[in-house]
Order: sequence, then C-alpha cells, then structure tokens
Amino acid sequence: MFVHCKRSPTNYMTTGTKSISKHILPASSMGNERFLTEIRYGAQNAGKKAYIQAGLHADEAPGFVVMHHLINRLDRADAANAIQGQIIVVPLANPIGVGQWRDEILQGRFDFFNSINFNRRHLDMTAQIAERIKDELHDTPDENVTLIRKAAGEVLSSIESIDEAEYLKHLLLSLSYDADIVLDLHCDDQALMHVYLGTPLWPDAADLPAQLGAEITLLAEDSGVTPFDEACSRIWWQLAQKFPDYPIPSACLSATVELRGISDVSHEQGEQDADNIYLFIQRRGFIQGEAPDLPPLRNEATPLRGVEHVKAPAPGVVVFLKQPGDHIKKGEVIAEIVNPLEEQMDNRITIVRSGIDGIVFSTKTDRYARPGRILAKIAGKEPIKGRGKDLLTL
Ligand SMILES: [Zn+2]
Repeated sequence: MFVHCKRSPTNYMTTGTKSISKHILPASSMGNERFLTEIRYGAQNAGKKAYIQAGLHADEAPGFVVMHHLINRLDRADAANAIQGQIIVVPLANPIGVGQWRDEILQGRFDFFNSINFNRRHLDMTAQIAERIKDELHDTPDENVTLIRKAAGEVLSSIESIDEAEYLKHLLLSLSYDADIVLDLHCDDQALMHVYLGTPLWPDAADLPAQLGAEITLLAEDSGVTPFDEACSRIWWQLAQKFPDYPIPSACLSATVELRGISDVSHEQGEQDADNIYLFIQRRGFIQGEAPDLPPLRNEATPLRGVEHVKAPAPGVVVFLKQPGDHIKKGEVIAEIVNPLEEQMDNRITIVRSGIDGIVFSTKTDRYARPGRILAKIAGKEPIKGRGKDLLTL
C-alpha cells in the first residue's frame, strides 16, 4: 500500500472507511523510536485526495485542538457514509519536535541536531520530475497530472533518508504529494488568522481563506526556503514554466494556514476552525451534502513580498502601540522600545515606525527586543522585497 518509504507502517482498521497507520521513524538514539500517526478516510481510488496536517512546528498548539474537532466531524461523516474523496489526516506531524522539552518550554521548531527549521528545506523534486517526463508529456492536462504524479512517486521512492528529521520530511511528502488539497496548520505569535498560498493558485483558491474567515492571504510563487506547502504545490507551476508547450495545471491547492496566535487555544475557536475546514472540503466535493453560501473574503490577497518584518533597532522591552488587526500608515509608530538604563529620559525610549501602509497581522508574544529581532509583521499591497529573497522568518 505504501511504497515510497523503506519502512512499512503498522495498519489498523477501525470502523467504516477509517483506518489508522503508524509509521515508525528511524531512531536517532538507541531505544528512542518514534512514530507518525496517519488517519485515512474514504476509498484510495476515490479520484480525489485531501491531506491535512498539524503541528509540523510542534510548539504551535492551536492546530492540535482543530484536529481533535475535525476528526470528530469526519468520524460522523464516515458513519453516515458521506465521505466521497480520500481524506488523510495527520494530527501530529512532528513527533520529534513535540518531545523537545527544555527547561519547561516545548521547543519544537528546529531540529536540535542541526538547527534546521522543521518547516524549511523540504524536498524540491522539480528537476528530477522534469528529467523523467520531458519526452512523455501529453496534450491534455489530466494526462499530464497523472504523468507528473507518477514521476513524483518514483522520485520519492528513489530517496532513502537515514536521518530521523529527513525521513520525517520525506514521509510527510510521500503521504501528500499526489493530493489535490494540502492544508498545513500552523500558528503565529500573537496574530490574525492568515493563509500562505502559491500565487498561481489565486484566485481559484479564494474559497479557502474566505471560508476560514482569514483576514490576510499572502501569495508567493517561491518563498525561497521550501516550506512543506510549497514542496507540494510549487512543482506544478515550475514544470508549467519549464514546458510551456504543454498544458500543466496547478493541480495541488496547498496552503499553510496560520491559526492566529500561539495562545489562541479554545474549544470554541477549534471547533469553528474545524467546521470551516470541513465546509471547505465539502464544497470541494470530498463530503456529501451542500455547504452553505461561501462567506465573502475579508481582505484581498497581498504579495508575500509586500510583508514588512518590522525589526528592533535597539535592545529593551517592547511596548506595542498597534495590535494585530490595526491598519497602519507608513511612518506611524507601531511600538516603543524601553531601556531604563539610559540616563536621559528621552533616550530611554526608541520609537519603531512602520515602513509601509498595511495591516498589522502579527506581533511577538514576548516583549524583548534585541537589535535586528523581528517584532511585528505588516501586510502591504506593494512588493517591497526583490525576487530571489527569502521571504519567511527563521
Ligand atoms: Zn509554524
């Protein structure tokens, strides 16, 4: 059943179409094997596939609560024989990171062995797929989708990772690369709900942020650091650019969903987010029944290259004068940095101003500044960063 990773999972059937698989990761330390849990609903040959995961950054808690409520919803749909597509749920995508406790704080964002962010440097398969398909492309989009997914599966099968985190990344991509929809649930520090999407997916994917009630949608063709969502989706428009004489659609609607801030954890919010994800995939034909009318999009999408990362110019403690959700003008004060050691009262405060017009959508949770540290993010309409720049934070 599962051919792209070298180790076979242990599978359990439950009720209805639901099955659970446990994928064992290669241990980094003796006696410390971990496993990834995958839940599948629907038939494997359903003709459409959705993949939803949470907790790739294991310190980002809201996604786990959303998963709890989403699984409840999907269990009920399955019991009613209402699941029409294949739906894969990975409720805890990073069993390595979720064990990274240190001094009472769960870390979970960077691999302890090499400091690589768990949501960066995922596999970029475009060149290897291109090599495999270059003489076999067709004149119809559907045939090319089948061809490219087959080639991607072959590329994944040809890769063997012995490192635990590399193996995990390979496993997650192996579960999702052939999906029509991929949702990767994250959260920010103190933030509005926002969604990252590939520019070529817009506006076809506008039903996702609209249904979620996301305030901000950020578009990029290539953020420069290959987060998980881009590893799934970017191959499609890169191959389309490489082979302009053939119809290659953007066949994977892949998004990173930032579920507000790190402390925004409640059953009310989690249930609402799970309901909205459910309605989104229902409207896309994965579950029987009629979804209600799509709510209007709250704000037009803006370029990821238009995001200002407001950085601290001095050390001290940050007092924010603007909050997530506030509209701000270029030159307006967003925060003050207080340093009580400066002798002159005027020098005790360093003013931090916005460099652009836009919407403040994220601020740091803790209030410490050091020169260069990102304190806030503002979504502006005009690109301010050049192509080829890394557009995401560490
Ligand atoms: Zn994250």
